[in-house]
Amino acid sequence: MKIYVNGKYCSKANAKVSVYDHGLLYGDGVFEGIRAYAGRVFKLREHINRLYESAKAIMLRIPLSKKDLMDAVTETVRVNRLKDAYIRLIVTRGLGTLGLNPFNCREPQVIIIADKIVLYPRTFYENGLSVITVPTQRNLAEAVNPRIKSLNYLNNILAKIEAINSGCHEAIMLNSFGYVAECTGDNIFILKDGVIKTPPLFMGVLEGITRDEIISLAANFGIEVMETVFTRHDIFNADECFLTGTAAEIIPVVKVDGRTIGSGRPGRITRKLMAAFHELVRRG
Ligand code: PMP
Repeated sequence: MKIYVNGKYCSKANAKVSVYDHGLLYGDGVFEGIRAYAGRVFKLREHINRLYESAKAIMLRIPLSKKDLMDAVTETVRVNRLKDAYIRLIVTRGLGTLGLNPFNCREPQVIIIADKIVLYPRTFYENGLSVITVPTQRNLAEAVNPRIKSLNYLNNILAKIEAINSGCHEAIMLNSFGYVAECTGDNIFILKDGVIKTPPLFMGVLEGITRDEIISLAANFGIEVMETVFTRHDIFNADECFLTGTAAEIIPVVKVDGRTIGSGRPGRITRKLMAAFHELVRRG
């Protein structure tokens, strides 16, 4: 495996960052999870734009132009001879001193890993996932804004631990007002009486690239989509529920906090969107 580190390709064993890198010391950096299908990187421009927006929010200067970074991502997939891949693009604050001050860090580090990922077993896509709501709330937008895809994922990791401790693979996180926000690594959607609903960004969620894609796919099918506030009660009484994310793609949810959602099987609209999404990624 060849890993891109600051413009050079290294073997997995040699791909290293300093222990003084603030990415390691403080989770100070930004990242993207991207997929390639059939040799083409899916929604690369959107991922690069979001990375630059996250970087801007934390005053991190990415030392490459968008075009050069896009080329580097494509090239990393190519040199690893991958067709279907999961790509992790990381920009850390770089080497600094032991103090927090990010302005003491010299040069941001750019890392690109092209590998594979299997988030959930196939059967979950066929039969649906069981999820729970966890006590750990999603970060307040005024604290660590969930719109920034930063290397600081402890909020989500705590929620993931709570889900796994309860025998579930994914957790629903509420915001501090008790409204549904998102999952640890996925956005959430429900369908009720033919209308698809997903929490708006101001509820404290990442603007998922898969989320945006599903919103436009649904609109193409003539299905009404509302970005609207909802609670667990609305999920319990939804006809369908599903999660979206680059790694997870679209995954049906059939049980939430022990309540069966709809018929207890992946819903008709969910399956239709899954099929459309798979068709889309293959077409590029
Ligand atoms: N929410 C969170 C917290 C995430 O980390 C992710 C990405 N893994 C998503 C939602 C989904 O975003 P995307 O569709 O862009 O992968």
